[in-house]
Amino acid sequence: MKKQETLLEGIVVERFVPNKPHKGKVLAAVQAHADDIPLFAAGTIAKFIAEGYIGYLIQTTNDEKCGPTPSIGQTILSNEFEVDELAKVLGLKMVFNLGYRNHRLDEASPTELRARLVFLFRALKVDSVFTFNPWGHGEENPDHYITAQAVEAARWMAGMGKDYPEQVACGITPHTVREQYYWVARRGQPYNRVIDISNYIEEKVASMSTNKSQGPAGSQGSRLRAKLTEQALRLPELGDDDETADRQYIKLFGLKENRELGKRHGLEFAEGFYYVGPGGTFTGCIESTDVESYVAKNAVPL
Ligand SMILES: [Zn+2]
Repeated sequence: MKKQETLLEGIVVERFVPNKPHKGKVLAAVQAHADDIPLFAAGTIAKFIAEGYIGYLIQTTNDEKCGPTPSIGQTILSNEFEVDELAKVLGLKMVFNLGYRNHRLDEASPTELRARLVFLFRALKVDSVFTFNPWGHGEENPDHYITAQAVEAARWMAGMGKDYPEQVACGITPHTVREQYYWVARRGQPYNRVIDISNYIEEKVASMSTNKSQGPAGSQGSRLRAKLTEQALRLPELGDDDETADRQYIKLFGLKENRELGKRHGLEFAEGFYYVGPGGTFTGCIESTDVESYVAKNAVPL
């Protein structure tokens, strides 16, 4: 089996990698809403957990606007339970709910949000982070881009000891997050890494099915099944119970983007990310290896 290959246009296609290459590494998936990770990154996260990562879920908002009941309180609660279920389905170890108001994250203090993320990145020793693209075009939801911008700033600032020095004084060691995976949430957003999720499609479908309160897929299958029953009709693919109907509906209609992306790169199902690796994107760095090799070649005795 090929591990990965680099295509001419610079896009890396990553397939399953055996022997747990990520053992000992930590990932954090930072979403604004209960349905973000399921839609954009669940297959990859399931793959990475299977390949050795320990994972954590961080959610910035309380999802108070997105649910079928008129009660805001019940909406928050049902989404919170579903995010706990999402973490279980993907094998993520813990959920951190930051609890900012849904659709109003742009009113939150940017430095408070950043400080909370810095604390978590340091305390959990996060190596790789998943979130929205902080500068991806077409994004109309402030919760998405505010989350992403806070993650982007916090991931390097977490490595600077003079930022939030009280954390460091209390034993929380500075720690830089070295890898960023920005998922593709809007058509046309860039990606340079295509990850084969064909082996993890059941986990992705199960994660999408946890979003009963919101999301484009969570309980649509059982609703369609009930509607058809009223009309004395049935779709055999939807099975005989609600959960089967929800998951089958997702398989039939909810994976179109993943199927199409996979097809373009010779895979059955894929998720795309804009990946920034160790070293980041800063163009002003001086590489210590460049200095060392120059000294080795050019230094002369006094
Ligand atoms: Zn969202």
